[in-house]
Amino acid sequence: MNKPYCDDKGNIIDFYEILNIPYKAEKELIRSAFCNLIKIYHPDISGKNADEDKKKVDLIIKGYKLLIDDELRKDYNSKLLSKSRFSSDGYVYLPKNRIKYSISLKDLLTTRLLNKKIKRKERMRAFGQDVEIFVTPKESEKGAVAFVELPSRMDCHVCYGEDKYCHVCNGVGRIPTASHIEVKIHPYTQNGSTVDIDLMKLRPDRFTSFTMKSLRIKITIIGKAFQKEGT
Ligand SMILES: [Zn+2]
Repeated sequence: MNKPYCDDKGNIIDFYEILNIPYKAEKELIRSAFCNLIKIYHPDISGKNADEDKKKVDLIIKGYKLLIDDELRKDYNSKLLSKSRFSSDGYVYLPKNRIKYSISLKDLLTTRLLNKKIKRKERMRAFGQDVEIFVTPKESEKGAVAFVELPSRMDCHVCYGEDKYCHVCNGVGRIPTASHIEVKIHPYTQNGSTVDIDLMKLRPDRFTSFTMKSLRIKITIIGKAFQKEGT
């Protein structure tokens, strides 16, 4: 059977994760992410861990070819993002529209870079959390997995900020990108409970310039949203 999107264990590969880009990434971003990564992992450049890098490069190239082609991408997305996916422990993969951000990802990055404390305080006051995840009663019983997207930036590995005419970063030295955090909602999680994700643990690779130390996630069980806790 032909399973072009799967690894050798039969699990579908998330090429967005591999290219470190959001699911809605436009072609421009796909291209720049590809250019960056290929420079990092190209065997001629890295030398060390050549085998690992070779595998990584193969995946990066495969992912790039797939996502840059509208038809292939559409077909791939329908498989990757379909609702019927389950993790190996039987958790349900939640569709993206169940994740509600208290602020847009772009604004989140901007506010983090400009103003570290005040904005988050304001936001926490208004929303009480950074991200809210909605699960159905059934999903909350079975357990669910959500992929929360966070903005991040990576160094431009083409010029490291040395070339002000750099075609990848426009001389800024960094390029905006996005990373996914896998959030597990364990079976029988209570409605309204919160999960704090320690972003520091995910460093240094993915959030080098992301200054928020933790992310508060609230779990809301659909249909129980207006029920008061503990009554
Ligand atoms: Zn550059």
